[in-house]
Amino acid sequence: MRYSKQRELVMQQVKALSDHPTAEEIYQNARQKCPGLSLGTVYRNLNSLVEAGRVRRVPVPGQPDRFDHTLSWHSHLYCTRCGQVTDLDLGDDVMRRLLSNRPGRITDCVLTWIGLCEDCARKEKA
Ligand SMILES: [Zn+2]
Ligand SMILES: [Zn+2]
Repeated sequence: MRYSKQRELVMQQVKALSDHPTAEEIYQNARQKCPGLSLGTVYRNLNSLVEAGRVRRVPVPGQPDRFDHTLSWHSHLYCTRCGQVTDLDLGDDVMRRLLSNRPGRITDCVLTWIGLCEDCARKEKA
């Protein structure tokens, strides 16, 4: 399979697995469509998609990176109990207020909150 085709396949998987998949999860899915694919190739393609601004990298401390096809600025919540990464949107106005009167120029935002997701927080209460 040609390089550009592989990259589109990886892109499709990031979109299909909309819940912030790891490279490993993307690889497991992509391999079904393209059996000769290697994990290294998936990593390379993900890196080039991130560089091209088509995919967002979501860093999680001490864990493998996650990948996101939602390109607008939003932060994430990493659940320490179930390991899920979910969107945690603070809203544009909050972001703008935080950044107003900052020196320099902000071009991107990578923010990961650590805690419990809604489900896990509810279970812990019960
Ligand atoms: Zn959870
Ligand atoms: Zn996201």
